[in-house]
Amino acid sequence: MVEAKNFRDELIANARAIVRPGYGILAADESTGTIGQRFAKIDVENTEENRRAYRELLFTTEGLEKHISGVILFEETLGQKTTDGVLFPELLQSKGIIPGIKVDKGLVIIPGTNEENATTGLDGLAERCQKYYSQGARFAKWRAVVKIGNGRPSLAAIIETAHTLARYAAICQANGLVPIVEPEILTDGDHSIEVCAEVSERVFRQCVQALQEQKLLLEGLLLKPNMVTQGATSTDKKSAAEIAWYTVRTLSRTIVPAIPGITFLSGGQSEEEATLNLNEMNKLDSKIRPWALSFSYGRALQSSTLKAWSGKPENVKAAQEALLTRARANSEATLGSYAGGAAGDSASQYVANYSY
Ligand code: 13P
Repeated sequence: MVEAKNFRDELIANARAIVRPGYGILAADESTGTIGQRFAKIDVENTEENRRAYRELLFTTEGLEKHISGVILFEETLGQKTTDGVLFPELLQSKGIIPGIKVDKGLVIIPGTNEENATTGLDGLAERCQKYYSQGARFAKWRAVVKIGNGRPSLAAIIETAHTLARYAAICQANGLVPIVEPEILTDGDHSIEVCAEVSERVFRQCVQALQEQKLLLEGLLLKPNMVTQGATSTDKKSAAEIAWYTVRTLSRTIVPAIPGITFLSGGQSEEEATLNLNEMNKLDSKIRPWALSFSYGRALQSSTLKAWSGKPENVKAAQEALLTRARANSEATLGSYAGGAAGDSASQYVANYSY
């Protein structure tokens, strides 16, 4: 019998490298449909070549490697090349950036629930992880979604979320990929921040319990949760300091210190909000936050970049400048040293019932 390779040390080293001080993740793994929605806003056609050109713009940004430790790619991007013929994973590795891969296959409705979601993609996942590893990926992402309101989340949805995230994570670790465990509690609704805190606590607790029961190497994975905020249509808008406090309190009650890092999603916050909220968390007493608190932003790293680019080759430099500005600001936020004022898109990036 061939003994399975033990990736233990590699998983721990890669998880730690991703969340080392001053670094975070650029989530550029929008599915073909999702990137199409972004392109539509800037009047760019959703062709394979335009998707490739846009990702080339992102990854060839000079100095990106000073702030970004990992980039999450969509499967198509993993096999694409720069205009000079360099495969994207190789380009990223040459800059010291770790390539990651989105491995889930999207959401379905759980029958018998009030439109609550399960995430698909476990079938054949081990084989896909092996292929992605051979293509250079060293970490993975799987997005689960939980809704608040009208009796949600149901126990069925919470159990499904936790169980499936743990199964995905176990398969990734067995095949050398650091799993990013993403239970995203959507902001849809007019609920208070207290309600979001209470639901987040229940969901995160169940997730960590499932990870432990399924014998995950906790030191070799990362958590990608929502921040604890009021609902998107609530009028009781909280400050960055309040959001930071509720978020860290929720995490401190549920997330064991063995997990090395928390890489937040931006979840529809504006670029500046996402940076300020993270910065406030990293200003809190370090005794109550034993993990690295970092970012894995999609919209909050890319919205001003996309606008600046607008599909025009002559705008590439300006767009890369915009990306670097946000990457630098978030890098400072991981240290609690962001002074504010980086140029960026102040518009909310909220999309109702968001799919990725
Ligand atoms: P946002 O930061 O745009 O919420 O997306 C991050 C992500 O990867 C969601 O899965």
